[in-house]
Amino acid sequence: MTQNPSGSLRAVVLGGGLAGTLAAAALAPYVAEVLVIERDSALPETATPRPRLPQAAHAHMLWSGGADAIEELLPGTTATWLEAGAHRIPIPNGMVSYSAAGWFRRWTETHYLIGASRDLIDWGVRTGLKAHPNVRVRAGVKIGGLVGDGSRVTGVRVLDEGREESVVDADLVVDATGRDSKAPEWLAEIGGPVVAETVVDAGVRYASRRYRAPEGAESNWPVIHIQADPREGRPGQVVSIISIEDGQWHVSLSGTRGGEPSADEQLFEEFARGVRHPLAADFLARAEPIGEVVVFGRTANRQRQFEKAAMPEGFVVLGDAATSLNPVYGHGMSAAALGALALRDTAAKIPVTAPKFAARAQKAIARPAAAAWLLAVGQDRFYPGAVGKAPNLADKLAARYVQRLNRAAIGNFLVVRALTDVMTMKKPAAILGSPDVLVAAARGLRRPLLDGPPLTEREQSVLDREPLRAEVNKTS
Ligand SMILES: Cc1cc2nc3c(=O)[nH]c(=O)nc-3n(C[C@H](O)[C@H](O)[C@H](O)COP(=O)(O)OP(=O)(O)OC[C@H]3O[C@@H](n4cnc5c(N)ncnc54)[C@H](O)[C@@H]3O)c2cc1C
Repeated sequence: MTQNPSGSLRAVVLGGGLAGTLAAAALAPYVAEVLVIERDSALPETATPRPRLPQAAHAHMLWSGGADAIEELLPGTTATWLEAGAHRIPIPNGMVSYSAAGWFRRWTETHYLIGASRDLIDWGVRTGLKAHPNVRVRAGVKIGGLVGDGSRVTGVRVLDEGREESVVDADLVVDATGRDSKAPEWLAEIGGPVVAETVVDAGVRYASRRYRAPEGAESNWPVIHIQADPREGRPGQVVSIISIEDGQWHVSLSGTRGGEPSADEQLFEEFARGVRHPLAADFLARAEPIGEVVVFGRTANRQRQFEKAAMPEGFVVLGDAATSLNPVYGHGMSAAALGALALRDTAAKIPVTAPKFAARAQKAIARPAAAAWLLAVGQDRFYPGAVGKAPNLADKLAARYVQRLNRAAIGNFLVVRALTDVMTMKKPAAILGSPDVLVAAARGLRRPLLDGPPLTEREQSVLDREPLRAEVNKTS
């Protein structure tokens, strides 16, 4: 087993994004040193963008399941976020959401989400990590590959900015290099296993822009969420408006293959008006755009089953590097946070150098990611042109049950709470099969559908203002 010069354990975390930062927090209590190796030349001291986090230009919902996991790993992070201007948005009452079944009622709070830019979320987590003095970050360094063989990883090869190669020894290596992780190639180079990979790609493209919230709508403002309906047989198009820091709204449009939003500023609000309901477009017409439209297209669901491969000891994969998800469902950060918590819990039970530590940790990490995977592909397989295995009978029955639940949820608090438990990653999807939920689903809709968005007087008063711009393609 590799020992660092001081003779104590060293964990090396590859990637200083959200999963990497949380992995460092998870391992810091159980090793002498954690070294985080990050390719970007620096991790900002403030909530500002950085080059290798392009997805930060798009609205990020951090559900309470993920936020609670982060708080457990790094106590005080929620307060750091809120003091810096993030919003704690109650769920379901803080959401005006148009699902495939209709408008959700705004039932009393059972869960929450954090409304903040991704840059602020990551900065808050990096700030919390400072409580661990044994964590060090080496930025401006690229991982070149693994060191070791098919039975144990003993370190990594790194390339600094001058492209000098060196080796960093490690007792445990955690890959958190995100969606573009080269872990399968790195494993192949040292004689490691072939890892099974599944891709389901609905061809989702994102276009996002920031707006200055209208006066009086800067805080205590609901998420406006117009969802797609996979049953319609047309591309799924979604709009979300989320309140973030500095009195801004972060607005993301997304569309599956054949219905993608464009980067053209002139077409941004037109797309928002063309989705299943124009409510978001009506709000945007009364807000001031303050940034460029930014697009992003690498959104395929990709699951790499490291937990099923004969992996070498000393190597674990976390976050998007293992499971990357279509972002529309907002589960990537929460799955990474719950995975990091699972890594910590494994390290609390057995030493990170114990035989099978990596295998046990990888299995535990895979559980929350697999739950999020099923939620995403359970919908994405139904969109036109989706790449990947076509839905089978079981997929179709599961999708029909979820549709029924969504409809029952319109009029049944018990069902709403169960669906929100799953959506916020607070509980596993298995609770949707519990007897009380099954009975409620069988009973169906117990209250009438709402005939319009459930807005408060304050929210409606914003819509009653004159639009700042002509409302493109308005038909009514
Ligand atoms: C458009 C979009 C919208 C999204 N919206 C949401 C949302 O609403 N809610 C949600 O929960 N999730 C959302 N996600 C998903 C979320 O962004 C990811 O799940 C999350 O970033 C995963 O974190 P990570 O640390 O695994 O990867 P990343 O955040 O991508 O971090 C990887 C890090 O590794 C570094 N790195 C990469 N290669 C190397 C290398 N060779 N050497 C050294 N360092 C390296 C990178 O520089 C980076 O810092 C969205 C994603 C996209 C694309």
